[in-house]
Amino acid sequence: MTPTWAQIAYLVAAVCFILALKGLSSPKTARTGNLIGAVGAVLACVTVFFAVDLDHEVPMLAAIAVGSVAGVVGAQRVQMTQMPQLVALFNGVGGGAAALVALLELHEVVALSGFGDVPKFDLAAIAFTILVGSVSFAGSLVTFAKLQELMTTRPVLFPGLPVAFGGSLLAGIGLSVLLVVDPSLWVGVVLALLGLALGVLLVLPVGGADVPIVISLLNAFTGLTVAAGGYVLGNTLLLVAGTLVGAAGTLLTKLMATAMGRSVLNILFGALKGGSTLGAGEASDRPVRSAGPEDIAILLGYASRVIVIPGYGLAVAQAQHTLRELVDVLGEKGISVEYAIHPVAGRMPGHMNVLLAEAQVPYEQLKEMDDINGEFKQTDVVLVVGANDVVNPAAKTTPGAPIYGMPILNADEARQIVFMKRSMRPGFAGIENELLFDPKTTLLFGDAKETMGKLLAAVKAI
Ligand code: NDP
Repeated sequence: MTPTWAQIAYLVAAVCFILALKGLSSPKTARTGNLIGAVGAVLACVTVFFAVDLDHEVPMLAAIAVGSVAGVVGAQRVQMTQMPQLVALFNGVGGGAAALVALLELHEVVALSGFGDVPKFDLAAIAFTILVGSVSFAGSLVTFAKLQELMTTRPVLFPGLPVAFGGSLLAGIGLSVLLVVDPSLWVGVVLALLGLALGVLLVLPVGGADVPIVISLLNAFTGLTVAAGGYVLGNTLLLVAGTLVGAAGTLLTKLMATAMGRSVLNILFGALKGGSTLGAGEASDRPVRSAGPEDIAILLGYASRVIVIPGYGLAVAQAQHTLRELVDVLGEKGISVEYAIHPVAGRMPGHMNVLLAEAQVPYEQLKEMDDINGEFKQTDVVLVVGANDVVNPAAKTTPGAPIYGMPILNADEARQIVFMKRSMRPGFAGIENELLFDPKTTLLFGDAKETMGKLLAAVKAI
């Protein structure tokens, strides 16, 4: 029986998690939200130690120490552009841990109580946690390997994959039923192995640009697994925290899929039906118009309205500080400048907001896609900094393109368009961008940080 003080501590931790989610919903409050969530997690861990009569405290403390050091070092070293794979790794570990806890619980159930007394619903929760936790663990490791480019980021398909996946899924359901009817540890272990195979088979056919969405889906899986684990262990806080993660992960998956104009089923099983979810990725050799920083500075200097479209390349180049300086200087010259933020610019939700907040860009200058899309017609110059897919008109005009159906920023409607990128290579979706060849478009080639520095100097000199 959990003592009253511990139940109150769990309640406080649960409130912390809810407040954390609320805080994370806006860039202004995100840091505080994160901190409140961390406080809730520490409170939960400490409470367990004092409220429960634990065995093996020393190995537990050692494991916590190792985990904490790995977590802190990993989080400090990670580049902003590698954040999705870090999330994948953390998420996978959570799912794996829940599956292991459920296996241990199964062991206890089988060894100590005799299965006649165990409610069937508890056994169903154990089976669910083992299966889905293992799927989440293995799937997250494959997504990590894909995003870290330890393996190909393209969909991996082989003959018989759909049959192998369907067969494993049916076998997983069958073994789960067997575990409820006639529980034994070996059924649990085989179920876990099957879950690992299912996780790999689920993620292999998913292509590069879709991988972060699958991470979010696996995150939802982990949340549900942890919630089921909380039920099995009779721990209300785990139940609440798991449900929150499950709900948040599900909503995020839905939002990201909508922002990319895709359905979750299409993302997961699109490649199985044939037709890659990732394009060819070849650089074009068609002629384009390019110019130097001085020419672009003049173009900007004589504009009265400019919209900046930041993308993944801005994050890679770490040019956000120089960009903010440029916008400040243009502002001092009486030019109106705003940033247009596409929901999937970069490589994770809110990537551009975080990047620009780091450079202390005022929130009022950041405009969401739906708020600014009508304004491009009245805009003199659009400055596209390291973005590509989010302004690619193929999303509207080319059925069959991997990004077809994704809402884009209407950069093509502006009077002049300037692209800052290093080459003619395509963006993440791997398809050519017709806007690069538009008569209104000028390319300013080079690493965004370097060219942004030169552009800033040239604008100051006008
Ligand atoms: P893109 O990947 O389409 O384009 C990035 C561009 O940046 C490239 O054309 C590249 O061209 C350029 N670039 C890269 N490094 C530099 C550098 N150092 N200096 C200058 N330019 C550079 O990015 P977008 O932000 O437009 O689109 C995001 C893509 O990621 C979309 O396809 C989206 O669907 C996908 N995605 C996003 C998710 C999210 O949550 N944000 C999640 C899942 C997918 P070059 O190599 O020539 O320099």
